[in-house]
Amino acid sequence: MDHRELEAYFHSLDRSFFVDNDMKEYASLDMPLPIGYGQTISQPSLVLEMTKLLAPEKNSRVLEIGTGSGFQTAILAKMSAEVYTVERIEKLMEKAKKRLDSLNFSNIYYKVGDGSIGWQEYAPYDRIMVTAAARILPDNLVSQLKAGGRMVIPVGPPHLQELRLVTKTDNGDIHIKTVEMVRFVELKGKYGWTE
Ligand code: SAM
Repeated sequence: MDHRELEAYFHSLDRSFFVDNDMKEYASLDMPLPIGYGQTISQPSLVLEMTKLLAPEKNSRVLEIGTGSGFQTAILAKMSAEVYTVERIEKLMEKAKKRLDSLNFSNIYYKVGDGSIGWQEYAPYDRIMVTAAARILPDNLVSQLKAGGRMVIPVGPPHLQELRLVTKTDNGDIHIKTVEMVRFVELKGKYGWTE
């Protein structure tokens, strides 16, 4: 991945475009902000850091769980070949899709549903980015990761989680590294917390 290209695109994105009117004045702050339905747009510095950890390549097919505002989706779509993004709240997905369509992305595929079970239809993926906190490392996501692939996922209880980098070797072995402690909203669903 070209870090300079990533940083240039990241800094060119107007975060206020991804939040509702009442939050626009706070969009330049390096903090999560409410996007409705009890959800948040993530802290921008963490979005950048997690994208660097994921290290998508130009030919990568990326699965993203938790579309939210679409801010992270735009960055992934810019840095890779295709993004498959799953969001459980239909209204958030509708808004995110509208924003991303207006930025002229044609390499993003959208699904409303429980992303904790992944998106089997288009698996395996070179990269998987999870932007909500899982209860445990979801088996389905691990099995939908391609050999040689990378997944970034927060795992742990509400309020504080381990940000994990999961890599799958060419012979299918799984390596897990805890990078730091983070705080994300809950991943709901089968491998997440109860609805
Ligand atoms: N990356 C997003 C952004 O830049 O705006 C922020 C995502 S927000 C922290 C987490 C999102 O995950 C929320 O929109 C929430 O609805 C979604 N979510 C939670 N559980 C989910 C699940 N099982 N499947 C899909 N999306 C889920």
